[in-house]
Amino acid sequence: MKIVDFDQYIRVIEDFPKPGISFKDITTLLKDGEAYRAAIDNIVEQVKGYQPDIIVGPEARGFLLGAPVAYALGIGFVPVRKPGKLPGQTVSETYELEYGCDTLEVHADALRPGQRVAILDDLLATGGTTSATARLIEKTGAQVVSMGFLIELSFLEGRKKLQGYDIFSLLNY
Ligand code: IMP
Repeated sequence: MKIVDFDQYIRVIEDFPKPGISFKDITTLLKDGEAYRAAIDNIVEQVKGYQPDIIVGPEARGFLLGAPVAYALGIGFVPVRKPGKLPGQTVSETYELEYGCDTLEVHADALRPGQRVAILDDLLATGGTTSATARLIEKTGAQVVSMGFLIELSFLEGRKKLQGYDIFSLLNY
């Protein structure tokens, strides 16, 4: 597996999407074939130890990491989406944001009780998205065995919201 300094492929854009936010842009990593492959290979190596049966990725950047990892492991991928996007019957979970709240959905028949699930997303910030995703998975009876991220903003202490779960990330800010 190629050793890559992932940090140099992340572009930081100040004041996006609003003043005071220092946005970590992963598109600069994704467009570099070698860096993208190295990131996926690295996540595959870390997540396979948990022996997941299936990968779950939240819309939209979770798809960009989750789907290639699922492909590499030869297991399935289940998308978690914003309301009204999935055509079948869904299970939903609402979570609080700084202002207001948001809802995530998954197909009710996408996961089975007892299945071992790894959640993959681009970035762990406050942990709100991932903890809602975990609750959604657990509502179906499946089990969350690992949570993996390309980037973790440790100063936001997202891990505090995710206590009891096994978490890994490739890059820390
Ligand atoms: P959390 O719910 O606060 O942990 O925020 C994580 C979610 O917000 C992830 O799905 C990310 O895609 C998105 N996000 C938050 N901050 C950033 C950022 O700086 N870059 C890219 N995505 C971000």
